[in-house]
Amino acid sequence: MRKCAKFEEYIPGKSVEEIRERLGLEKVVKLASNENPYGTSPKAIEVLKSFEDLHRYPNPEYRALREKLSEYTGWETERIVVGAGIDGILETVFKILIDEGDEVLIPIPTFQYYRILARLHCAREILVSRGEDFKIPENIFEFLNEKTKLIIVPFPNNPTGNVEKKRLIEELVNSTRAIVFIDEAYIEFSDEKLEIDSDNLIVARTMSKAFGLANLRVGYARLPRWLLKFYRSASTPFPVSTLAERCSIAALEDLEWMKSCVEKIKKERERLFNELKKLVNPFPSQANFIFFKARKGLAEDLLMRGVIIRDCQSFGVEGYRVTVGKPDENDFFLEKLRELT
Ligand code: PMP
Repeated sequence: MRKCAKFEEYIPGKSVEEIRERLGLEKVVKLASNENPYGTSPKAIEVLKSFEDLHRYPNPEYRALREKLSEYTGWETERIVVGAGIDGILETVFKILIDEGDEVLIPIPTFQYYRILARLHCAREILVSRGEDFKIPENIFEFLNEKTKLIIVPFPNNPTGNVEKKRLIEELVNSTRAIVFIDEAYIEFSDEKLEIDSDNLIVARTMSKAFGLANLRVGYARLPRWLLKFYRSASTPFPVSTLAERCSIAALEDLEWMKSCVEKIKKERERLFNELKKLVNPFPSQANFIFFKARKGLAEDLLMRGVIIRDCQSFGVEGYRVTVGKPDENDFFLEKLRELT
């Protein structure tokens, strides 16, 4: 084992099958992994069913997908890279940038995988506590120094669902030579967008959430030009399968489907938030999940009744995160929550 590395496993949301089997329950609803409850665009499913080239390696340029992503985002094709989810992109970025002892600045609570990678790469984690509203605090600048190599900014944040002040992020990007990694996994659900660019900025997005392709593992990012050749050298040669590439293209050609899901989810997010307010202490969200504070042990009690939500202790905060599901799934969750509060 590498001596400087610390090894810690990622804890995924529990699966419906696991809980059904373990507890012998007939009905189990999973609202724990921020997936799209409406599934996947039928156009992508058609591509999946007709795909025949499983025995071939992918073309590692991923030109067709990067061109489609350029159309969708307005980013230059040349600056877009694709990876095995944002997870895979983060992994490659850490590989390129982090020497032992480099500082990685992570505002917490947040998505655990950032810390797992920092530890694995022998970085010093600089954990900046978010304030009461979970926004990155104004004093973040005090944590910057010449050893700061990477700053992680999820927009919106997981598990709290909030976005950041645009001015603060712009100032942050301008006041450091470190790379700022903006994780926009949930951007399609957010009314606020950052839309900034700089030579020290990476913006990453995914096909896993709004596009409903979590199982295909497709993420993408816009890199500064100078970083591209390093990224290509450090990435695994074929991070995305041709099947995943073609399904992603089909999903990107069916934006109407994605947008209609986002609209339904945002409407449900509002209803769920208002219902939660009557029972617990929810926080406003710009993502496809809601963070709330409630008594200890609630996630376990809901699990016994067939509802999987996320206990956020592993994110570094007391509270729970529930993914916005379909109306009937949310009703089932609310019904069980009412029984327990
Ligand atoms: N970033 C954040 C903030 C997330 O919540 C997630 C998914 N849990 C990811 C990245 C990983 O996304 P992907 O499926 O693209 O690897």
